[in-house]
Amino acid sequence: MSNVLIIVEQAGGKPKKATLAGITFGQQVAQKSGGQVHFLIIGPGASAAASEVAGYGAAKTYVVEGAAFENYLVEACTPAVVTAAKACNASIVAGAATSTTKDLLPRVAARLDAAMASDVTAVVDAKTFKRPMWAGNVTATVELTSNIKVCSVRVAEFDAPAKGGATTATEKLDIAVDAGAMKAKFVGRKEVKSTRPDATTADIVVSGGRGVKSAEGFKIVEQLADSLGAGIGASRAICDAGWVPNDLQIGQTGKIVAPNLYIALGISGAIQHLAGMKSSKTIVAINKDPEAPIFTVADYGLVGDITVEVPQLIEKIKQSR
Ligand SMILES: Cc1cc2nc3c(=O)[nH]c(=O)nc-3n(C[C@H](O)[C@H](O)[C@H](O)COP(=O)(O)OP(=O)(O)OC[C@H]3O[C@@H](n4cnc5c(N)ncnc54)[C@H](O)[C@@H]3O)c2cc1C
Repeated sequence: MSNVLIIVEQAGGKPKKATLAGITFGQQVAQKSGGQVHFLIIGPGASAAASEVAGYGAAKTYVVEGAAFENYLVEACTPAVVTAAKACNASIVAGAATSTTKDLLPRVAARLDAAMASDVTAVVDAKTFKRPMWAGNVTATVELTSNIKVCSVRVAEFDAPAKGGATTATEKLDIAVDAGAMKAKFVGRKEVKSTRPDATTADIVVSGGRGVKSAEGFKIVEQLADSLGAGIGASRAICDAGWVPNDLQIGQTGKIVAPNLYIALGISGAIQHLAGMKSSKTIVAINKDPEAPIFTVADYGLVGDITVEVPQLIEKIKQSR
């Protein structure tokens, strides 16, 4: 019987949508092992977020709050995760693969002497998982043989969990943090605020590549996205060029997305870009080069100039509303 501890990330007392994939993973593992699921929520607003995830079937939600957790720092959060893992006798510690867990979970694994599988895409049994390798060209089935196992879970591969079940009990954990002994300190946060849905959880994503030609040219991507209520993304080439912010990058070294509809505008389809979007349910590509590799993964392809085709597409969408 393997108990599972799932890290649920939150902001302002609300669980982050992407992080719910971790809960689904936890439910699947517990179903296979017969163990219990526990949640851990850290930071200001953790208690409020705990009541939001009550009813997802956890035996208990551990809550960690206090001055040391006002802003995320890996050195403060690691002992919180380790303490919660020991408190619930967890055999598996996991969370959705986000920039936070990519930082936190390897350190947790080291502290717990645990083997780790990152970017898990499927649960085979309580110790065996599927994960992509080599930019998504190979799917490996890995067995973690350590007593405690640590996993990060690919958001796009796990549906949000269904609500239902009894209200979860909450327990506050007191974690002593010696701020003076920490090697890193919080300096500031720059947040990108957008009214558009985040690409990792959006139903539709419109993405632009070097074919947009400039920062100004990226507006065509935004216009199509807004006509569809979609999230936006970009290739690394145009993030590196400074045409759009880096947080839009889709791909091996950016965000992994799998929306119902992914529209690639002026993107060649380099293997590193495909690694971040090829699990999308339907892929549409517009590119003026008929030989562009993006067409090998596209369900619908249009060979043409985006500056000509996209305004017509937007017009048709407007007419259909
Ligand atoms: C270690 C590593 C990690 C990487 N990680 C990532 C990653 O996470 N994400 C990522 O995207 N890349 C990543 N890359 C970079 C990747 O290899 C490519 O260089 C990049 O994806 C190319 O971006 P692009 O398709 O926008 O540009 P290009 O390859 O230059 O393609 C531009 C496309 O636009 C088309 N085009 C031009 N004008 C028009 C027009 N008017 N109308 C229609 N089509 C037009 C062209 O035909 C061409 O196909 C990584 C590379 C490395 C080495």
